Order: sequence, then C-alpha cells, then structure tokens
Amino acid sequence: MQRVHLQGIAKSFGATKVLEQIDLTIEPGEFLVLLGPSGCGKSTLLNIVAGLEQPTGGRIHFGDRDVTDLEPDQRDIAMVFQSYALYPTMSVRRNMGFALKMQGLSTAEIAAKVADVAKLLQIEHLLDRKPAQLSGGQQQRVAIGRALVREPQVFLLDEPLSNLDAKLRADMRVELKRLHERGRRTTLYVTHDQVEAMTFASRIVVMDKGRVQQCDRPEVVYAKPANRFVAGFVGAPT
Ligand code: ADP
Ligand code: MG
Repeated sequence: MQRVHLQGIAKSFGATKVLEQIDLTIEPGEFLVLLGPSGCGKSTLLNIVAGLEQPTGGRIHFGDRDVTDLEPDQRDIAMVFQSYALYPTMSVRRNMGFALKMQGLSTAEIAAKVADVAKLLQIEHLLDRKPAQLSGGQQQRVAIGRALVREPQVFLLDEPLSNLDAKLRADMRVELKRLHERGRRTTLYVTHDQVEAMTFASRIVVMDKGRVQQCDRPEVVYAKPANRFVAGFVGAPT
C-alpha cells in the first residue's frame, strides 16, 4: 500500500487558475473522497495524480518516490472513468485481461487473475459477451474489474456511478464499499454526490473553486463544517 502525497499542486489552463495550492495526503489503504460541485477542479486533480495532466506547480509523491514527471504507465495506478470506455470489439474477458497482456503476463496467469476479479464482482457469467451486450451497470462493473485486475498501488475513480440509474447506483455503492474493505487499496474517489461521499469515505476532501475547503472524517465535515460553503454543500442545517 502506498501513501500519496500532494504538495502545493497548482494548475492553470492559460490564464485560468483551476487548482491552487492543493496539499493533501492519501494514507495507505485509505478511501479518500474528493467532493465538490461541478467545475471545481476534481477531475483535473485526479488526472494530475494519474499523470494524465501535468501540474503547473507542486510535487506528487507515491511513498518516497517523486512521480511528478512520470508517465501514467510508470505510476502503478488504475483509473475508472464516468464513461466506461470498454474496448467495443473485445469480449469482457479480453477487456479485463488486456492490460495484463501488455505487461507480459502468461495466458494462464491472466486467466487466473481475470477469473478471480470476475468472481469478486459477480460478472463470471458475462466474460464471453461483448460490451454492447451488457447493461450500463454491467459495463461499469467490467470497467471496475478491468482496473482491479492490475492490482494497482493507487486506485483512482472519477464519478464512476454517475451514469447509472438510482437503484443501480445504490447497489454499486454497497459493492464498492465491500470491495474496498476486502482490498484496502489506497483510493481516491471523485464525486459531486454527498450521499456517496458519506457512504464510503474514510475522509472527505471538500473542494470549491480549485481549493480544498475542508479535509476530515465524514461525521466531522457534516457536524462541524469549516466554512459557509462546506455547510451549504454537506453540513447539517444550522
Ligand atoms: P470537475 O471535475 O470538478 O467538474 P474539472 O476538473 O473537470 O472540474 O474542471 C475544472 C475547471 O477547469 C473547469 O472550469 C473546466 O472548464 C476547466 N478545464 C478542465 N480541463 C480543461 C482544459 N483541458 N482546458 C481548459 N480548461 C479546462
Ligand atoms: Mg469531473
């Protein structure tokens, strides 16, 4: 398990400042939820942790390793996006095994890992289907499975449930929580949904306008919001 440490992260697109002075630590095995309204910079921050975007300032460490200048495939991360983006022509089995094949694992090793994760996510019966033959919820399970088989040190999820209907979303919340309890992977989970944040988080980071407004355990954020913004967004009515 890795500790992820963000130090003074800043990001501008041209003249627009999107992130300012973000200092954050994700503890090993922690499920940290990044919560904030649309446009506040959540995805940008996640993409910076993943290496998909370069920060304009600050450093990122995974454990003792400075990963700021490393490519995504050098960081030992896996990411799940809002849009599942499965490979349409490949079966579920191949979608899940593809990254492992790229890593040079043997066919037998890949089969064993895919079977393991498929069982965990209860998608064993779907392994020979193509993405188009799956429901939205099933596709998102496969996307999560595809990320999990790689056994990443750091697991990054960007609003993975927001395209699902309410019932499925509720089911998947429970499922993701169970998965985390089993795996205890260092996780950064982005959402704009307060309920989701309350369900999972070991700690919640509330963001607004590119800045961290509060970072604490859910019950503390709820009962003792640091400022008016947090109070309005998640806090108990006063
Ligand atoms: P969130 O995920 O919280 O909804 P984003 O991180 O996607 O927010 O975006 C934060 C802000 O940065 C938004 O105002 C968005 O328009 C802007 N932004 C994001 N990506 C780019 C980009 N590639 N170029 C210019 N502006 C961007
Ligand atoms: Mg986003």
